[in-house]
Amino acid sequence: MNHAALVCRGCFGNLYAVSSDCAPAAPLPTWEVDHDHTPANCPLRPLLPLEGAAAHVHELPDAGHVLTEPA
Ligand SMILES: [Zn+2]
Repeated sequence: MNHAALVCRGCFGNLYAVSSDCAPAAPLPTWEVDHDHTPANCPLRPLLPLEGAAAHVHELPDAGHVLTEPA
């Protein structure tokens, strides 16, 4: 399980990211990204949680819409 410091583009709230440990049959970890605390009003709420399999959290399909650029 990994944690990364991420910030939502919509509300600038903190996001958490967790990834499953690679299962033997899965070539890529499965990610889940969501707000640390559900914001009252975030335009990106329909996109969250962001889930999918990718080598890196920033390679998820909607990562460019949700995540600020990597530091
Ligand atoms: Zn947000």
